Amino acid sequence: MITLDPTSWEYAAKMKNFSGWVRKKLAEEFLDHAEKELSKVEWKAYCAECDVTATSPHKVLMEYKYCPQCHKAMKFMGQVE
Ligand SMILES: [Zn+2]
Repeated sequence: MITLDPTSWEYAAKMKNFSGWVRKKLAEEFLDHAEKELSKVEWKAYCAECDVTATSPHKVLMEYKYCPQCHKAMKFMGQVE
């Protein structure tokens, strides 16, 4: 499954649980990537009176966002397309 050069193979052979370590590293890499994808999501709130839009990657902040101009509760608009 994995091709190693002789030096890498020597190191790998010395590790107690090389395949477990590889699986763990792959899982970490995948989770890290998934988290980065997740952080791209932005949420939007809108004040119709002032025509002001606010966005944030934190959903809860936009759900309870107050307009910076009129200080009224903004309308939660969901995920930014
Ligand atoms: Zn406003």
